[in-house]
Amino acid sequence: MLSLPQYRVLKVDENEHDYHIFTEIEAERVACPHCRSLKVHRWGTRELLFKDLPMHGKHVGMYVRARRMRCEECGRTFQENLPALAEKRLMTHRLVRWIGQQSLKRPFTSVAEEVGVDEGTIRNIFRDYVNELEAQFEVETPKWLGIDEIHIVRPRCVVANIESKTIVNILPDRNKKTVVSYLSTLPQRKRVRYVTMDMWAPYRDASRAVLPQATAIVDKFHVLRMANTAMEQIRKGLRSSLPIRQRRGLMHDRFILLKREHELTAQERFLLDNWRSLHPALGEAYRLKEDFFAIYDAPSKIEAQRRYHAWEGSIGQTMRSAFSPIVTAWGNWHNEILSYFDHPITNAYTESLNNLIRVMNRIGRGYSFEALRAKILFTEGPSKHESARPKFERVSRREPFIAMRAMSALSYDVPIWDDDEPERNLGVDIPRLVEMIESGRFPAE
Ligand SMILES: [Zn+2]
Repeated sequence: MLSLPQYRVLKVDENEHDYHIFTEIEAERVACPHCRSLKVHRWGTRELLFKDLPMHGKHVGMYVRARRMRCEECGRTFQENLPALAEKRLMTHRLVRWIGQQSLKRPFTSVAEEVGVDEGTIRNIFRDYVNELEAQFEVETPKWLGIDEIHIVRPRCVVANIESKTIVNILPDRNKKTVVSYLSTLPQRKRVRYVTMDMWAPYRDASRAVLPQATAIVDKFHVLRMANTAMEQIRKGLRSSLPIRQRRGLMHDRFILLKREHELTAQERFLLDNWRSLHPALGEAYRLKEDFFAIYDAPSKIEAQRRYHAWEGSIGQTMRSAFSPIVTAWGNWHNEILSYFDHPITNAYTESLNNLIRVMNRIGRGYSFEALRAKILFTEGPSKHESARPKFERVSRREPFIAMRAMSALSYDVPIWDDDEPERNLGVDIPRLVEMIESGRFPAE
């Protein structure tokens, strides 16, 4: 019944909720742990209760009659070993392992109820299990490293591999100290060539300190977003000064202002022109936003720099205060902003990260940060592996983009990889994680 060969089952009691299994250890020669002598004799017994895996929907308690022994050589007493049992937890080893695995997939309360222990016990086992996984968790150090922010209760730092669109790690906060100590543990950290970030100074400081060989790049998305924010500020200021009927229009047509001019439909353009003639300030804010976006269409760094200075010079007095955060940011970050023009990061990455940020607030309720982080990093589903041999991209049916790239580069018909090659763990596939969150499969209940 137990399938623990080291124990002999003496008796099984069963009630509506529980199994009580009374056992005795299969006698074997016991040596004194102090002096190794085999001359030992029984000095008493005590009955211990261990929890085991739930069976047929019932809690399982295993009673073990543990013998206390006395050594005839050295005179000391000791308890015989209890194989397969975690004495600290009063559980079988297999139950401890099972709880660890289950606590990654399900809420602690549900696991606690199934096993018949309290939630705190589940949480402790979960912590130990996560530490164990953490010690084994080795993700390949990215060449393009992305440092971003994600909100799980508070802002957290997400470290990503931009090329593979994967999460490499999630840090508890965005402090320089935290980021430095994490980056310092990266294996082969000289591999990192580029680090992209938002304009958060501790990221730049940490990157300079630990990855001096890497080029820091400010993500385009974060820069452009500032232009939208400035324009929105002008719009909101204007709206509050308008009579209610006109106000409503400015709210509904907000998306038109956020669109690029060349993407507007004829009707949207008509509406925009109408707003512009009614409210010249709004027209001016829109123009500044569009001109700022046009900096990123520049074919070179020098041209981008030229466009920026022309843009800055064109900010009129009424627009100054709304657009001044951009001028300040440019002053502090122009090197990293302009680096983008030499090393543009992929939009595919930014888009998938933004999708993750968008769906992230759907989850998180009911889970601690540690639990959610572990679920993201250590759950099997979304993690991404690739064959270690760099010459051949592993062709996967789920990733047509990689497949296409591999085909065009090597022109072979059949995916070739050697199963003996160790796999590289690239981290957690962001699009797959987003897909799992959206379809309600993550985190599993
Ligand atoms: Zn002894």
